[in-house]
Amino acid sequence: MASSAATDHRRLSNSRPVLSVIVPVYNEEAVIPELYRRMVQVLEEIGEPWELICVNDGSRDRSLQLLLDLHHRDPRIRVVSFSRNFGHQIAITAGLDYARGDAVVIIDADLQDPPELIQTMVDRWREGYHVVYAVRVDRQGESWFKLWTARLFYRLLRRITDVDIPLDTGDFRLMDRQVVLSLRCLRETNRFMRGLASWVGFRQIGVEYQREPRFAGKTKYPLGRMLRLTMDAITSFSYLPLRLGTYFGFFLAFLSLVGIVATVILRLSGNNAFYGQASTLVAVLFLGGIQLIFLGVLGEYLGRIYDEVKRRPLYIVDQAHGFADVPDPPPPPVNLQEPHRVVD
Ligand code: UDP
Ligand code: MG
Repeated sequence: MASSAATDHRRLSNSRPVLSVIVPVYNEEAVIPELYRRMVQVLEEIGEPWELICVNDGSRDRSLQLLLDLHHRDPRIRVVSFSRNFGHQIAITAGLDYARGDAVVIIDADLQDPPELIQTMVDRWREGYHVVYAVRVDRQGESWFKLWTARLFYRLLRRITDVDIPLDTGDFRLMDRQVVLSLRCLRETNRFMRGLASWVGFRQIGVEYQREPRFAGKTKYPLGRMLRLTMDAITSFSYLPLRLGTYFGFFLAFLSLVGIVATVILRLSGNNAFYGQASTLVAVLFLGGIQLIFLGVLGEYLGRIYDEVKRRPLYIVDQAHGFADVPDPPPPPVNLQEPHRVVD
């Protein structure tokens, strides 16, 4: 039987929330109870109707069970559960598809992003900003390797892309409904959400915060995934790697032209420079290497084009809990026609 608190929550959960908070969850059983505690505290203080959408990204631990327990206690916790692991960026995308709030916040499950900052974000939003993104001024509990590669990554990205992606900014941000609706139209497969959120434009502003160490558990972003995200970010927003091939080609062609002229002149003047196989071999191998590298670059773009052409849905939902009895049910996500169980 539902307790009176739960009935009260159910009544509240029926009205369209002002604030939607999206949390991607992948094997986070160790942090879920604390996440819930801190999140509820913060959201209650803000005092607007809210919903917490947890996207279970194919967790293999007890995360889903814990989330469902929370949902049954407090229906403002809504759960979208994928059929397998689709990745962090896709989990966020699903959250945006299901969120119904006037303002939508994306936050990591591991409490590295302090939920308390949401209050500041809401204040800025009320001042009229459409996107309030969180800028890390300090990061604790990360290896120097992660710190430096991340620093380098944001600075490189800024140099080579046309989109103004703010430095040292993760996915922790608040977005107005208008921005969310725009983002829903962008259905590309290899997604870099921070870039897309900048790409859509609108009035954006940053708020600074200290990034804390992970509350519990291990990072779900090993080096391989970081590299993949980097490649997605670069290929999504820049043609520079492709152009580099052209620039390099022109440069080498020019150099060989000079070489040809020099050789002919030397030969005509009776000088026998440039003989021997070693120099030929080195030149051929060098060029072969360069060509393979740029073939690889072409391949990176080609593979992504192939992904787009296939037009597969971005994710498959196994179950969704908490989306049935709302007066304004979320639209079926664009491109997503697959039948999935809306459980309650
Ligand atoms: N995450 C996810 N799917 C994945 C990997 C990560 O939903 O395949 C979630 C994870 O549960 C966390 C957030 O994405 O809420 C960020 O992951 P993590 O904290 O491990 O990344 P880091 O902070 O180490 O870069
Ligand atoms: Mg983290």
